[in-house]
Amino acid sequence: MCGIVGFSSHEKSACEPLVNGLRRLEYRGYDSAGVALESADGIKVVKQRGKVAELDKLLKEELATEDERAKYTVGIAHTRWATHGLPTTVNAHPHIADDGNLALVHNGIIENYATLRAGLEKRGCKFVSQTDTEVLAHLVATFDKGDFLSAVSHALKQVEGTYGIATISRRHPGEMVVARKGSPLVIGIGEHETVVASDVSAIVAYTRQVIYLKDGDIALVTPDGVSIYSLDNAPVSREVQEVDWDLGAIEKGGFDHFMLKEIFEQPDALRNTIRGRLDKSGATAILAGLNLTPRDLASFRRVAIIGCGTSLHAGMVGKYLFEKLADMPTSPEQAAEFRYCNPIIGPDNWIVALSQSGETADTLAAVRESIRKGALVSGLCNVVGSTIAREAGRGVYLHAGPEISVASTKAFTAQVTALLMSALKLGRTRRLSYSEGARLVDEIERIPELVGEVLKQNERIAEVAAKYAKADDMFFIGRGILYPTALEGALKIKEVAYVHAEGYQAAELKHGPIALLSEETPVVALLADIPGKEKTVGNVQECRARNAPVIGICSEGDSAAAEHVNDAIFVPKTSEEVAPIVSVVALQLFAYHVARLRGCEIDQPRNLAKSVTVE
Ligand code: GLU
Repeated sequence: MCGIVGFSSHEKSACEPLVNGLRRLEYRGYDSAGVALESADGIKVVKQRGKVAELDKLLKEELATEDERAKYTVGIAHTRWATHGLPTTVNAHPHIADDGNLALVHNGIIENYATLRAGLEKRGCKFVSQTDTEVLAHLVATFDKGDFLSAVSHALKQVEGTYGIATISRRHPGEMVVARKGSPLVIGIGEHETVVASDVSAIVAYTRQVIYLKDGDIALVTPDGVSIYSLDNAPVSREVQEVDWDLGAIEKGGFDHFMLKEIFEQPDALRNTIRGRLDKSGATAILAGLNLTPRDLASFRRVAIIGCGTSLHAGMVGKYLFEKLADMPTSPEQAAEFRYCNPIIGPDNWIVALSQSGETADTLAAVRESIRKGALVSGLCNVVGSTIAREAGRGVYLHAGPEISVASTKAFTAQVTALLMSALKLGRTRRLSYSEGARLVDEIERIPELVGEVLKQNERIAEVAAKYAKADDMFFIGRGILYPTALEGALKIKEVAYVHAEGYQAAELKHGPIALLSEETPVVALLADIPGKEKTVGNVQECRARNAPVIGICSEGDSAAAEHVNDAIFVPKTSEEVAPIVSVVALQLFAYHVARLRGCEIDQPRNLAKSVTVE
């Protein structure tokens, strides 16, 4: 998920290119950094928790003179964004094996690491970290019978999950093996030097001639170039391309803003949230991090889902899911309110704390209060090892990857997906039938693909946004499980486009706010084809009768609903449980395009901070 850099030359020191490369990757967010350097005397690893600048300092202390640095002409480097194990120095990459003779860096998640680790431990391998990655280092070392490339391909064949890797070994001087599956890797071909990175931004300072590896590729990298193979050792040829983007565009993967990049990352992010967590034969979800037995789950009488802002809206969706699928009385709670209103909670309450960063001060305080009152608390965070995740001691990591844009997008859909899996798991210990469970497993599996379908509507959404971008007031309405989506749509457009927007239950509009409607106040109506839609269509008519233009987020093919609105945006037809996810993606794009047309600072809106660590 985070950053890899590799450098290989005959005579130039790798130290500077590696550290500079890591600096270029800093924008992606990370928690620790490290390098492994190879010389005739062996491999030197320098790594630590914290920033690249600190790593650079440490490296300069350890290799104080030019002469010392010059010895190391091959090396690999990494910025880690922890998924397995806390963000500590020990867990930072590179990881070593074979008595320090092999070093490896990895982006991604090895799903079957626990099984692989148990097997390797039986064979005498000693593990020092909590990461999934260390397994890979030992596996490669175990398979090394003299041919580095085939050792790595043998190891990778054992692995389930995603990876971008780079590895070096003292037994194979001057050779670096890199590979990818589900996590990007680019090779830059320079003059007698080769640079590898997970992102071209770390390469362009050295060369603009690059090769993008494809999933399943493995490559042997030397200072003189690269040879690429399939995992079965068949040579493959990949085109050398010339990069002509400027650096800013490269960092954002060709998107104009991080917000847009992150909206478009959602299919992949959600695949990571779901990966390895569905149990088809049991028609349930596997959420090992919750560490709750069916008996524990059966003992709960009430759930409270706490959060702030976008996380609170995800919690509100969670209420519908937990009540519908698990018959569990559930209340979404604003964390600061919860904490100060002396909540009535005890041992038979399950408190689910939502926070992308895991550092939100109000949510953290609510977690502490809940623990004090004897409730069982779990965290649902994106940042591994964050305070809430640690203090709760159990939970579900989102694995959505770093979110840079202040306005949250992919973390929201990942939260809702994780809540859906939690509700499924809880439901299956209660009254949810096997066949209903199986239906949900199928639905959850399809989420990434369905979100991908919504993204195809980007141009249409931009077109609709252009029509309404001048409006200074907007209303968002939804019913039932789509009500929180209306709130989230209104919040997004407030945050990034500075449009005054209000989200309402569709039926509530006529109890007051309808007084504000006119031709100047567009109403965005959530009209996905799920139970209750007909009633919302009725509310849409009430808006139209007051001359308010209505934008409908409708299900594909539902022309009956679409004909009641001025502008329809179609999203795939889904079950009720998944409708908030596909609908919100359309609203994220709508907010983005309105903000762009209004010339706003999209990634860093005024007055806002990415992680709110004050009360
Ligand atoms: N899963 C690995 C870890 O937690 C890699 C994380 C990353 O991609 O930075 O160490």
